[in-house]
Amino acid sequence: MLFNYHTHTKYCGHAKGEMREYVETAIENGVKTLGFSDHSPFIPPLRRKLGVRMAANDVEAYVAEVRSLAKEYSNEIRILCGVELEYFPSFHEEQKAFLKPLQLDYCILGQHYVGENNDESNLFHVQNQSSDDRILEQYVAQAIQGMQTGDFLYLAHPDMAGFAYSDACIEREYRRLCTEAKRLHIPLELNLWGLRGNRCYPNPRFFRIAAEVGNDVIIGADAHSPEIFAERETEAKALEMVEKLGLRLIKTPIL
Ligand SMILES: [Zn+2]
Ligand SMILES: [Zn+2]
Repeated sequence: MLFNYHTHTKYCGHAKGEMREYVETAIENGVKTLGFSDHSPFIPPLRRKLGVRMAANDVEAYVAEVRSLAKEYSNEIRILCGVELEYFPSFHEEQKAFLKPLQLDYCILGQHYVGENNDESNLFHVQNQSSDDRILEQYVAQAIQGMQTGDFLYLAHPDMAGFAYSDACIEREYRRLCTEAKRLHIPLELNLWGLRGNRCYPNPRFFRIAAEVGNDVIIGADAHSPEIFAERETEAKALEMVEKLGLRLIKTPIL
């Protein structure tokens, strides 16, 4: 793996290892550009969630640690600092204002919730059980609106809303998502962390549609522990999916 923009840290409370270990494992395994993109904090009106997102008052320390590692390892690797952010329509501007002073290099869109709060609407809880088509419709609408802001480098795990909906809805909604991403030139991520954990994503059913639409696809480690950079078999599985489905894989850094 030559580049990866999807890397978490201890600051979110559920990723393992020191940031330095991510950097060193990445270097040892040939990564030339490493973007940290830990989960951006839930700021008011959202309730803080321990172990799920960074604390709002940790963001400066997070950025400082990334920038200091970037300097220290600048001869070996290019290190960028970003966040993975949800799109909540009614306070996206507040989120941006909160992040602005940090002078981040990029944001990736990781839509784990639908609606305007982080309470009942966690897609992790519904993705394998819900057969309510409205959830997928809402997820797709929200992800599209997020992409349309122009604030995001790419869409992380685009298929994380799962596949427990009607066939017609899956086909229609995921195709709508892919078509809009293509129109906006926003890459869709093939997520290694999901592949490694046998999650419902990345799913061939989704990526078959992405292949038909002709989306640009980017591999993202979604690293929650440093070892993932050394796990060649996970990357090989992703490349097999790319090959089998005829996906347009991004092979050079986009930042
Ligand atoms: Zn996470
Ligand atoms: Zn992530």
